Amino acid sequence: MQDISFLTIQELKSLLDSKKITKKEVVQFFLERAAQHKDLNAVIEQYDVDSILSASADTGFLSGIPGYVKSNICQKDRITSCASKILANFKSTYDATTVERLKQQGALCLGSVNNDEFAMGSSGETSAYGVTKNPWNKELVPGGSSSGSAAAVAAGFAPWALGSDTGGSVRQPAALCGIVGLKPTYGLNSRFGLIAYGSSLDTVGILTRTVYDNALVLSAMAGQDAKDSTSLPTTPKDYTKTLDGSLKPGLTIGVVEDALSAQALHPEIRQATEDAIKVYEKMGAKIKRISIPSLDYGAACYFVISRAEAASNLARFDGIRYGLRVPGKSLIDLYEATRHDGFGTEVKARILVGNYVLSVGHAGQYYNNAQLVRQIIRQQLADAFKDVDLLVMPTHATPAFKVGEFDNDKLTMDLQDYFTAPLNLAGVPGISIPVGFSSQGLPLGMQLVGPHLSEELLFQTAYAYQEITDWHRQHPSL
Ligand code: GLN
Repeated sequence: MQDISFLTIQELKSLLDSKKITKKEVVQFFLERAAQHKDLNAVIEQYDVDSILSASADTGFLSGIPGYVKSNICQKDRITSCASKILANFKSTYDATTVERLKQQGALCLGSVNNDEFAMGSSGETSAYGVTKNPWNKELVPGGSSSGSAAAVAAGFAPWALGSDTGGSVRQPAALCGIVGLKPTYGLNSRFGLIAYGSSLDTVGILTRTVYDNALVLSAMAGQDAKDSTSLPTTPKDYTKTLDGSLKPGLTIGVVEDALSAQALHPEIRQATEDAIKVYEKMGAKIKRISIPSLDYGAACYFVISRAEAASNLARFDGIRYGLRVPGKSLIDLYEATRHDGFGTEVKARILVGNYVLSVGHAGQYYNNAQLVRQIIRQQLADAFKDVDLLVMPTHATPAFKVGEFDNDKLTMDLQDYFTAPLNLAGVPGISIPVGFSSQGLPLGMQLVGPHLSEELLFQTAYAYQEITDWHRQHPSL
C-alpha cells in the first residue's frame, strides 16, 4: 500500500472517494504507523478498528478522515484520563460536543493522545504517562500541553488532532513541532466535554499540518452549543470558503514590536518572522509596526488567573464522584489520600497557588489585580485592532528545548506562555504556522492574531502564506 502518512485531508478524501483505499485500510495504516513509533510516547491509547469505524457516521465531509483526541476531551465509552493518575480509569459516558460534531461528519477518532497532566505544562513532561518526544529530535520536548496531539500530527500518525488551549497549549506545541495550531475565539467551539482547567480561558483547538485542513476541521466543530452557556451565538460555516491564495484587499498587518524585540526571543525566530512579514509585504499587505505594552504582563496575569480557576475546577476530584478512590479512616482522610496519590506535583503546586491567590487577605493583591490587568490587555488588543486587521508576533521564544532543561527553573518554564497567554486572557483567536527551520534543523513558528471571531481572516491570511512557501511540506524523518 502507498505511504499515506503525510497526505492532507483533501488528498485522503480523494483516495477514499475514488475507492483506491477503504476506511478500514486508512485506520489500520495509521494505527500501525503510530505503533511503530511508540517511542515518541504520543499516544496513550489506540482503539480497535471496528469500534473506531462504528463510532462515527458513515458519511459527511470528513468521512473516513482519522485523527486523535487529547486525553482531556471526553469520548463516549473511552478512558478520558487527562493524563492523570486520578482519572486513569475514568470512562466518559458521553462525547464532548466537539468530538460529537466531528463524528457526525464521519471523522474517525483513533485514540487519545498524551498531554501535560490536566493540560498544565508547556513541555509534555508533567503527564502521568511519561514524556512525549519531539519527532524532529527525540531528545527534545514537543511542547505542551497538547504534546501528544502535536507530535502525532507532525509524525504523520493522522492529519488532525484536537488539543486544548488555555494559555498556549495548542499553538506552542504546534510551533515546536512544525505544524499549524489554531486557538479559536473563546466560545466559538463548545467546551462541553472538555475537562475544565481554567474555565474563562479554555478553548478546544485544532492541530494539523496545513491551514486548509485546519479550516476544514473547524468547519465541522464550530458554532453555538446549548450545553455550553459560554458558547457564542454563531452558526456553523465553511471556513475553507475564503481560501483562494489571495489576501483580503487592503489587509493591514500590525507587527507587535515589543514582542519581536523581546530579549528572550531567539534570533532565528525573530529572523524567520521578519522574513514571513516580507512575504506578506510582497503580496501587498500593509505593514504597521505597533506597540502593545501590556502584553508584557500577560504571563504573570495568566499565572494568577489560571491557578485560581484550576484550584476551583479541580476541587471536584475528591475520590467520591470520579476516578481514583484511596480509602481513608474518615471522609477527610479519603479526600486527602485520593488527592495526594492521584495528582502529580505540577497539579498540586497549581492548586496550592490557586487557593492562595484566592484566599482572604491575598485575593485583593493577586486575583483582583490580575483581573484588572486582564481588562487592560483586552482593551489594548481591541484598540490595536482599530488600526490593523491582524497582528503578527512569535508563538514561542525558542525552538524545542531539551527534556529536563527546566527541571530546576520553574520560572522560565512558566514564561513559555509569554506570547500565547495574552490571547486567552482577551479571548481572541490566534493561529501558529511554520515559518522556517533553525540552523539545528528545528521548526520555527509564528503567530497570527485577530480580533474576536476573525477565524476566516486568519485562515485566509495563513493559507496565502502556505501557498507560496513549503515549510509545512517538510516532515521529520522517523
Ligand atoms: N503552558 C500553559 C500552562 O502551563 C498553558 C497550558 C494550556 O494552554 N493548557 O498553564
